[in-house]
Amino acid sequence: MERVLRRSLLVGAPLFVCARAAPGATPLPPVPIFIRVVDDGGPVASGDFVDELVGQTSSIFAEHEIAFTEAKARATIDAKWAALETRADRDGLADLLEPGVANVFLVRSLRDVDDPKRFRMGVMWRCLKNLKKRYVIVAASAMPTTLAHELGHFLGLPHAYVKNNLMSYDRDEGAKVFLDKGQGETCRRTARGLFAKKELVAAAS
Ligand SMILES: [Zn+2]
Repeated sequence: MERVLRRSLLVGAPLFVCARAAPGATPLPPVPIFIRVVDDGGPVASGDFVDELVGQTSSIFAEHEIAFTEAKARATIDAKWAALETRADRDGLADLLEPGVANVFLVRSLRDVDDPKRFRMGVMWRCLKNLKKRYVIVAASAMPTTLAHELGHFLGLPHAYVKNNLMSYDRDEGAKVFLDKGQGETCRRTARGLFAKKELVAAAS
């Protein structure tokens, strides 16, 4: 009995190594995003600032072989979305969602709905009327890494408590912001799941 077990372990070992190597074989398609900016007598965020948000996202996730692509050209949305004060205000954006992409909305201000004395820089919001509808809202006063942080939540990451980690609130000024290996794996796994469920659809290249 013992001999049989030992043999099967030996036989199993190389297979296990192969299985581990396999996921790298199919590259993950770039995660499609669609950015819309509130136009409140002019866009609430400049094109340069949106470029910076996207650039930070690309460089932080690139280290983990995750790319993003703007699947649709940036567009604007009505001024009525400029100041999001309540949960219902956030929920309202669900009516604007485009299928197959990570929807991102840039607004002038985003009230903290748990502590109304405060404002948020960004949120990965789940529509309370339909929790399957998830989207990212970023305020015009956000940090350059805020979009990347919220897309981290979109790709399954919780907050982290390691200084300068993308998912932490604890940052040294000017320090390099990063994701660790395990976080990268979680994001790739989540993205593959979203592509498999057609919640994300790879953009035509
Ligand atoms: Zn967060």
